[in-house]
Amino acid sequence: MSISDNLKKLCQEIPAKVKLVAVSKTKSVDTVMEAYNAGHKIFGENRIQELVEKQKALPEDIEWHMIGHLQTNKVKYIAPIVSLIHSIDSIRLLNVINDEALKIARIINCLLQIKIASEETKFGLTVEEALHILSSEEFKKMKNIRISGLMGMATYTNDKSVIKSEFTFLADCFNEIKNTYFSQSDYFKELSMGMSDDYKIAVEAGSTIIRVGSLIFGPRF
Ligand SMILES: *Cc1c(COP(=O)(O)O)cnc(C)c1O
Repeated sequence: MSISDNLKKLCQEIPAKVKLVAVSKTKSVDTVMEAYNAGHKIFGENRIQELVEKQKALPEDIEWHMIGHLQTNKVKYIAPIVSLIHSIDSIRLLNVINDEALKIARIINCLLQIKIASEETKFGLTVEEALHILSSEEFKKMKNIRISGLMGMATYTNDKSVIKSEFTFLADCFNEIKNTYFSQSDYFKELSMGMSDDYKIAVEAGSTIIRVGSLIFGPRF
């Protein structure tokens, strides 16, 4: 099936209110253009340099999402062009994003990445760390970032019950944080969870953004 067919099928499957981020990491500009020409305008990348190069080469009305671990010294390159950063895993990173956003008079939308998987290697905050950030005076002073929700990645496993319980846990965290810190803030509304292998489970658990790569573009090598 073509990229266009894959996109169409996926969009028909998911509820209209769920946003699809097409994860284009490792794929060429031409490949992204194929998806763009099929009408898709939201793409996700996990490396700064690749995001910057593709943004330059591709149409201006594309919404670029940073979905991978972000080093603080590289924030300045994407601050002007990124529309959502999914991968906040420290207050230090948030501080740097706030400073860079202030310099260019932007407010940058960010998601706190919560560690829900059992694997050791994945980045992310524990729920306690996330609550700690949100309660801190340091966070309250940051005027150029906006926390618009949470992101998480489930354990890489065939056991659907494990994936389901991790996504349900994240949805519960979302509700708790919404009620505690953002009950008056309508911008806190995104729950970014679900990839090619588990997006159906994620959508059932309340995902509002899915990040899908290989199911659209084919395997990465
Ligand atoms: C690569 C990646 C995805 C997409 O993975 P697929 O399995 O190809 O859909 C989603 N989220 C993050 C954070 C990724 O790094």
